[in-house]
Amino acid sequence: MESAATRLEEVQANIARMCRPARREPEDVTLIAVSKTHPIERIEPLLEAGHRVFGENRVQEAESKWTPLRETYPDTELHLIGQLQSNKADEAVALFDCIHSLDRKSLLKALAKAMDKSGRRVPCFVQVNIGDEDQKGGCPIAELPDFLRKVRDAEIPVAGLMCLPPADIEPAPFFALLAKLAQDNGVDGLSMGMSGDYETAVQLGATHVRVGTALFGARE
Ligand SMILES: *Cc1c(COP(=O)(O)O)cnc(C)c1O
Repeated sequence: MESAATRLEEVQANIARMCRPARREPEDVTLIAVSKTHPIERIEPLLEAGHRVFGENRVQEAESKWTPLRETYPDTELHLIGQLQSNKADEAVALFDCIHSLDRKSLLKALAKAMDKSGRRVPCFVQVNIGDEDQKGGCPIAELPDFLRKVRDAEIPVAGLMCLPPADIEPAPFFALLAKLAQDNGVDGLSMGMSGDYETAVQLGATHVRVGTALFGARE
């Protein structure tokens, strides 16, 4: 099996390769190594290889793994990429450097309150329900301008827009639509692309790709 460091180099090289035709700089794409479900021993090799940006989808799991890891690697940047319950807002604001799943008014209120209380303002991506799927989280496209206004009014820093396109169909049109929505709404960041489609996402303007399997192998 390839080492984690080798896989990291490969993913970074793929990102750089996709930047060229798009006339983009690889430094403008942040690779978030999604370490959810993987134990500390699997994460350490990437830290040792110099990687510092990681993503987790559960507050509790992230807390138990990253509290010790951050003692050795205090400059680690931790992103919350999964759905967040409003009652975990305080913990999420204390633990994460960026939240990718702000998608509804109740969560907005809880996060604003948690940020006011702690004095720590955590940049948030607004998740958009890009495929208009009932089972998925995300702000409906039609409500996006109003929701973004509310986020800004609450003085939550807007990192950009995030999406998870529908499974099993070509993701490119959804990435292009998210890029268009960002442009229309004066937002810079685009969190889009996972192991199977991050190269397409980079071509279409992703500033943050969330890659798990391609770096760590399959999850249990
Ligand atoms: C798990 C997850 C990823 C990473 O998925 P891979 O296919 O393993 O790269 C990215 N984004 C979100 C929101 C996830 O939950």
